[in-house]
Amino acid sequence: MSKNPSRAFIALGSNLENPLSQIRQAIEELNQLPGSRLIGKSSLYKSAPVGRLDQPDFINAVVLIETCLAPHDLLKALLDIERCHGRIREFLNAPRTLDLDILLYDDLECCDEKLTLPHPRMSQRAFVLKPLMEIAPDCHIPGHGSIAPLLAACNGQQLEQIRPEI
Ligand code: ADP
Ligand code: MG
Repeated sequence: MSKNPSRAFIALGSNLENPLSQIRQAIEELNQLPGSRLIGKSSLYKSAPVGRLDQPDFINAVVLIETCLAPHDLLKALLDIERCHGRIREFLNAPRTLDLDILLYDDLECCDEKLTLPHPRMSQRAFVLKPLMEIAPDCHIPGHGSIAPLLAACNGQQLEQIRPEI
């Protein structure tokens, strides 16, 4: 690993084909990315679907990695992992075996046809903000500020922390 790796927060979501094991396996795969290592991991959460309601509940988590991959290379690597998990893009908010989104990459702000940072919908989603708060309570979201007031504004959204098995 080079001297100054970047820090990236990644959101994971799954609601098909054993979501718990999809998420656990994907976390391990993120730890194996080239020039990268896992340095933080939230609990797993169960959330009600958003947008399209007639689909199974989701399992969600957020992890923090240190990485030497540039932002677009990291995105490409995440899309490769999604493909290996059998992800098919049918329509907006469709059920999925695995969704991996880059929430934050250092303090970078960027918007092109492939990548928007910070992730454009992260500040409105309890299933992202709650696990993020758990691993980075002092985190600042460029353009949006601190997490606590954003999370308070999501109070109608159903979210349940999954207690780890002993
Ligand atoms: P969503 O996660 O909103 O349900 P998808 O997973 O189908 O949507 O992603 C669609 C596209 O969003 C990806 O192909 C990717 O190019 C783009 N995208 C833009 N910004 C990001 C980001 N921060 N993290 C992940 N994907 C992103
Ligand atoms: Mg995505």
